[in-house]
Amino acid sequence: MANAEEALQRKREINKRAVIKYRLSHVEQIRSRARQYAREHKEEIIAYREKSREKRLAWGREYYAKHQEERNVRFKEWYQNNRERVMARTNEWRRSHPQESREIYARRHAREKGADGAHTVKEWEGLNNLFGHSCLACGKTGMPLTRDHIIPLKSGGSDDISNIQPLCKSCNSSKHTKTIDYRPIYFQDWT
Ligand SMILES: [Zn+2]
Repeated sequence: MANAEEALQRKREINKRAVIKYRLSHVEQIRSRARQYAREHKEEIIAYREKSREKRLAWGREYYAKHQEERNVRFKEWYQNNRERVMARTNEWRRSHPQESREIYARRHAREKGADGAHTVKEWEGLNNLFGHSCLACGKTGMPLTRDHIIPLKSGGSDDISNIQPLCKSCNSSKHTKTIDYRPIYFQDWT
């Protein structure tokens, strides 16, 4: 019995090898046959793809959901093993992208504080253009400006552009959690 099973297994192995060998030596023929089939059954193939689209998407979603936990565990493990490399790369990116990294930090900070409203990078740049890229408190130019929330997020201020003023780092930190509107009176009336 065992021998018969083994013989069958061997035969299968030989068949498989023969099939592979055939395919390898007839690549062009197989390809052109497949192309011809595709030409002759174009409509059917398209219809089949259309019909099975939802099903395929559903499978994908199901698979994704089913393996979520596994993915998380794998990612955590990978992160543990690569933590230093990831951090080095992140720091390098931050150094070479100071503007973008400030944007990301500012947005995350506002979100974490549960602030209402939001402003775009364009609005922030527009505000800086309007005020000549100067700190509204000390008037200095030529230094990186930070978004100060006129009414601090902690006091329920919004992250909307109407609650933002550009301040230099030093003025921003000395204002701290006070509510001070440094914008010109004409501008305050607008918003
Ligand atoms: Zn300043």
